[in-house]
Amino acid sequence: MTTSNIDTAEIAKFEKLASRWWDRNSEFKPLHDINPLRVGFIDSKVDLAGKQVLDIGCGGGILSEAMARRGARVTGIDMGMAPLAVAKLHLLESGLQINYEQISAEDFAARHAGSFDVVTCMEMLEHVPDASLVIAACKQLLKPQGHLFVSTINRNAKAWLMAVVGAEYILRMLPRGTHDYRKFIKPSELMQWARQHGFELGELAGMTYNPITHAYKLGKDVDVNYLIHLRTSAAT
Ligand code: SAH
Repeated sequence: MTTSNIDTAEIAKFEKLASRWWDRNSEFKPLHDINPLRVGFIDSKVDLAGKQVLDIGCGGGILSEAMARRGARVTGIDMGMAPLAVAKLHLLESGLQINYEQISAEDFAARHAGSFDVVTCMEMLEHVPDASLVIAACKQLLKPQGHLFVSTINRNAKAWLMAVVGAEYILRMLPRGTHDYRKFIKPSELMQWARQHGFELGELAGMTYNPITHAYKLGKDVDVNYLIHLRTSAAT
C-alpha cells in the first residue's frame, strides 16, 4: 500500500462530517450547489453515457451519482471510510449502481492502468500532500484517448480572502480549517504537472460565487475556484 501521499488529518476532517454529506444545508452545501455546473461542464466535453468513469476523492458521492445518472459507469475511490459508507448507503436511496472502493489513486492506478475514458478529481487535490503524484496516477488510469477533469482552488491573496476568510470565517459556509492556503494550486502549476504527464489543455474555466444572490457560475474568472479539462495528447 502506498500511504505516503495521504494526509490523515485531512481525511479525518471529512470522516467527522460524513453523516451530513447529503444534507443540502450542511457543510456540503457548496458541493451540492456547484454540482450541476461541473457535471454540465464535463458532459459538454465528453458524452458521459456509457463511459467508464473514475471519480477520485469521491467522498459521499455527489459527483459520482450525478455522472451515473447521465449513464456513465462510475467507480468512486476515496481514502475516507465514513464518506464511502455514506456514499454506499445513498445508493439505496438513489437506486444507482456505483462501485465504491477505499484506495488511493496511486494504488488503484497500479491495478487498473489504462481502464478509464474519463477521470474526475474535484475539490480534492488541495487536501493531498503531493498533488502532482495524483495527476501522474490519473494519466496511468486513462485509456489512450482519455479526459481528465480537475477542480481546485487558486493560490493568491484574493483566493485566501474568499476561500478561507470569506467562506470559513465570515460567511461560515465551511468549518474553520477546512482549507490550508498553502495547499492551494495555481492553474499554471497544475498545467505544468499535466504537460509533464502528456496532457494537453481542453479548457480552463473559473467558478465564481456571488454572496448576495448565493449563485455560482462558470466563466473566465479563475482567481479563486477553477475547473480544468485536460486531454491525453492522443484524445480529440
Ligand atoms: N470530490 C467530491 C468530494 C470533495 S471533498 C466532490 O467534489 O463532491 C474531498 C474528498 O477528498 C474527501 O472525501 C476526502 O476524504 C478525500 N481525500 C482527501 N485526501 C485524499 C487522498 N489523499 N486520497 C483520496 N481521497 C482523499
